[in-house]
Amino acid sequence: MLAAMGDSALEKTAAFILANDDFTLIAHVSPDGDTLGCTCALRLALIKLNKKVQAVCENAAPKIYRFLPGIDGLIVPENAIATSAAIAIDCADEGRMGAAKAIWDNAGHTANIDHHGTNTMYAQLNCVATSAAAAAEVIFKLITLLQVDIDKDIATCLYCGLVTDTGNFAYSNTTEHTHYAAGKLMSLGADNALINRAVYRSAPISKRRMLGVGLVKAEYVFGGKIAYCLLTRADYAKFNARDEDTEGIIDNLRDVESVEIAILIRETEDGAYKVSMRSKEYADVCAIAMLYGGGGHKQAAGCTVRGEISTISGELIELAKKAI
Ligand code: AMP
Ligand code: MN
Ligand code: MN
Repeated sequence: MLAAMGDSALEKTAAFILANDDFTLIAHVSPDGDTLGCTCALRLALIKLNKKVQAVCENAAPKIYRFLPGIDGLIVPENAIATSAAIAIDCADEGRMGAAKAIWDNAGHTANIDHHGTNTMYAQLNCVATSAAAAAEVIFKLITLLQVDIDKDIATCLYCGLVTDTGNFAYSNTTEHTHYAAGKLMSLGADNALINRAVYRSAPISKRRMLGVGLVKAEYVFGGKIAYCLLTRADYAKFNARDEDTEGIIDNLRDVESVEIAILIRETEDGAYKVSMRSKEYADVCAIAMLYGGGGHKQAAGCTVRGEISTISGELIELAKKAI
C-alpha cells in the first residue's frame, strides 16, 4: 500500500517503520523540547502500531520537559538493549547521539529524521526537511501518514517541539505549515497555555539567578552588534545551577536592540566549552559553528570546543565581525 504513495523520504520512512518490529529512538545530547517532544511522540505512535520501542538519550530530560507524556519512558544508553532498527531524531550528525551512538552502530536498519541544513545524511534512510521549523513538523506528517491516531498525549509532545524550536512561533523559521500543524495539534488536544507554562513560566530560582549572571557578565563589542558572555563552573557553583538553568540566556543577549550576533560560552563539567550562537536578522552563525565541528541553523547554531578559551573566544568574535 505504501509503495503506491510514491517514494518521498517521508513515505520511505513510513515504510521503514511498518517494515521493522523493534526500534531505538535516539534524542540528541543536551536535549531540547524538539528532540524530546518528537522522541516521546514517535514512541507513543509506535506503541500504537504494536511495535517494540525504546527511547534513548545520553542526558536526562531537563525539568521543564518532564511534563511531556511518556517522558518516563526515556532511558539512558547504558540501560538500552540492542534493536534491529534505530531512528535518530533532530540529530544533525552522528556525534549528536552521544553515547547512544553505540546502539545505532549495532542496528541493522537506520533512519535519520531531522530539519537541520547541516545534516550529514549519515543514515541508510535520511528524512531531512530543511524547510521545517522543527523536527516535530516532520514527525507530525509522518504519524499522519502512518494513519496513527494523534491523541492528546502525542499532540502535546509535538506541540512542545514546535513551540520550543520557533521561540513560540516568533522566529523566521515559522511558516504557514508550522501554524497548520500547531492548529491541528490544538484541535487534537494540545493545551498551549499549559505547555507554555511548563516550558517558560516554571523556572527554578537558580535559573533566574543564572539569567542575571549572564546579563551582567555580557560584553558588547563591535558597536554593540556582538554580545558575548562566558559562564564558568564558578558561576554555576555560586547558585548551585545546572546546565539547563542557562537555557534562554542566549535569547536575551540576542534581543538587545543593537545586537546582531550573540555568543554564549558555557564551561562544561569536563572542562570543554559549549558555544551557542544566535543571529537576529541576517548573519550566518551556522557557518561559524561549522568551522569548529558544530552545526545548526543559519540563525541558531552551536559547537563544542576545547582549549584556551580566551584565544577561542577572540577567534569567535573576529568571525562574528566578518559575518556581520
Ligand atoms: P543551542 O545553542 O545548543 O540551543 O543549539 C542551537 C542549534 O545548533 C540547534 O539547532 C542545535 O541542534 C545546533 N547545535 C548545537 N550544538 C551543536 C553541535 N555541537 N553540533 C551540531 N549542531 C549543534
Ligand atoms: Mn534540537
Ligand atoms: Mn529541532
